[in-house]
Amino acid sequence: MHLLVLPGDGIGPEITAAMLVVLRAASDRFDLGLRIEEAATGHAGLRAHGHTIHPDIVEKARRADGVVLGPTSTFEFKDPAKGEVNPSMMLRKSLDLFANIRPARTYAGFPLRCGEFDLVVARENTEGFYADRNMEAGSGEMMVTKDVAISLRRITRKCSERIARVAFELAMTRHKHVTIVHKANVLKVTDGLFIEECRKVAREFPAVTVDDVIVDAMMAHVVRNPRRFDVIVTTNMYGDILSDLTAELSGSLGLAASLNAGTNHGMAQAAHGSAPDIAGTNVANPLSLILSVAMLLAWYGRRKQAKPFQAAAAAIEKSVEAAIAAKESTADIGGRLGTRETGDAVAARVQAQK
Ligand code: ATP
Repeated sequence: MHLLVLPGDGIGPEITAAMLVVLRAASDRFDLGLRIEEAATGHAGLRAHGHTIHPDIVEKARRADGVVLGPTSTFEFKDPAKGEVNPSMMLRKSLDLFANIRPARTYAGFPLRCGEFDLVVARENTEGFYADRNMEAGSGEMMVTKDVAISLRRITRKCSERIARVAFELAMTRHKHVTIVHKANVLKVTDGLFIEECRKVAREFPAVTVDDVIVDAMMAHVVRNPRRFDVIVTTNMYGDILSDLTAELSGSLGLAASLNAGTNHGMAQAAHGSAPDIAGTNVANPLSLILSVAMLLAWYGRRKQAKPFQAAAAAIEKSVEAAIAAKESTADIGGRLGTRETGDAVAARVQAQK
C-alpha cells in the first residue's frame, strides 16, 4: 500500500510523527508492506514551493492508495492567488471524497460526560454551505455591496443520495438505526430535498429503522442521551459542527477520528483543527489521527479484500482502548503521557498483539 502523508500545521507534525510510529509497528507486525511518502502542505508547503497544497501533491494523492492529512491553518489561508487554499478542501474536491465518516465512542479509563455511547456521523463532504466547493466556477460566498454579504448553500439529489447510501450501509454493520439531521422546518427546499433522498434510500434497507431530528434540537438530544443514536446522516456544515460536539462528549476532540471516502480514494484526517494553542508542547492527543489511520487501513482492507489490513486496523483500535484504560495517553483524557510517548505506548501494544 502506497500512503501519502501530509503532516500539516500546528499540532499536525507532532501527531503525525506519533501516528507514523504506530503505523510502522502495524506494518511490521501484519506484514503490510507499506510504502510511506511524505510531502509538505500548509505553511510548510508555502515555504517550500509557494503553495499550501501544490498541484503535484494532488496528483500524488490521486495515484496513492491512501492519504493521511494532518490539520492545517485553514483560517490563515485567504488568497488563492498567493497559493493559499485549504488543502483539505482541495483533496476532498479533487478526489471526490464525498463521505466524511466521524465516529464518536466512549472508552473505559476516564470519567464519562454523558454515559457510554457509540455512534457515527456520516457527513456529506462536497457541497452544502462550503463556499469553496459548491460552485463550478467562482465562490459560493460573495459581497453584493460593501455592507451585504451572501453565502450560497448547494444541496443536490446526487450528493444527498450517495451519503445516505453510505449511512444505511454502515447502519447494516452496526445497530441498524439511522437518524437524519436537518433544518427542514426553515430550509424547506434544500433540507426537504435532502430528507426526501434519504427516505428514498431507506426503502432499500427495510431492516434499518429511520427517524429524523431538527439540528438545533439534536444538540439537546445528543447531550441528554447520546446512546439513543447509532448512525447520523447529515449535510456538510451540520455534520462538521455536530461531530465536534460528539467527539468532545466522548472525552476530547483529541479522540476525533475521521475517514474521508469516495468511490476510488480514501483519506484519514483527524476531525479537529491545528490547535495552535498547544502546538509544539508535546501535549496534543495523537489518538485522533491514529484512529483515523486505522479507519483508512480497514477501508483499504475491505476494498482489496486484504485481511492483514483489516487485522491491523482492529489491532490498532484494540491497542488504543488498552492504552487509554492504562492511562497511557495524553492529559486531555486523563492520561499521564505526552504526544510522543502515547504513540510509542500504542505502537508497543500493536507489536505485542497476537
Ligand atoms: P484551527 O484554527 O486549525 O481550527 P482551533 O484551535 O481553532 O484550530 P481545534 O484545533 O479544533 O480548533 O481546537 C479546539 C480546541 O480543542 C483547542 O482548545 C485545542 O487545544 C483542543 N484540541 C484540538 N485538538 C486536540 C488534540 N489532538 N489534543 C488535545 N486537544 C486538542
